[in-house]
Amino acid sequence: MRQRLPDILGIPVWFDDAFEGISDSRGFLWWKGIFVGQSWTRLTRREQGAVLLHEAGHVKLWHAEKRILPSLRMHFFNLRKIAAIVRAKNEAQARSMWGELLKDSGVAALAREQEFEADRFCAGCGYGSDLAMAFSRMQTESDPMHPPTEERLLRLNPMGGRTGI
Ligand SMILES: [Zn+2]
Repeated sequence: MRQRLPDILGIPVWFDDAFEGISDSRGFLWWKGIFVGQSWTRLTRREQGAVLLHEAGHVKLWHAEKRILPSLRMHFFNLRKIAAIVRAKNEAQARSMWGELLKDSGVAALAREQEFEADRFCAGCGYGSDLAMAFSRMQTESDPMHPPTEERLLRLNPMGGRTGI
């Protein structure tokens, strides 16, 4: 079931009960939307707003567009590795090979930097501590495209001794 929610900063938002993640922004240029799943509905109203503002940050800062060229370059120069990933014995091996490729090509570093940028966007809207609360309650898997949650929390929390915001 997909249901339209109120827009955030002019960006359409949809709830999709089949979506397993918390939130995601999709699309390019002027055709973009934010998707949220069941786990988003379990957050408090302020935390929900913080997560939406994080995604809005990705959209407003043109993150998907900035990833097109590095991603194309990565594919173009690693056709053999990509073919090997397609032929990998199982899902776990494919995922680990894909993670290595993302790291080696610098695409993972760019994506992680974009996560921090989107967190700062959210904090700039006054929702930094709500985002930190949401993070501290979420179950997050390690993933080459996202920084470790502890590091994001440290940057969001001004008492953590960093000046990330
Ligand atoms: Zn993000």
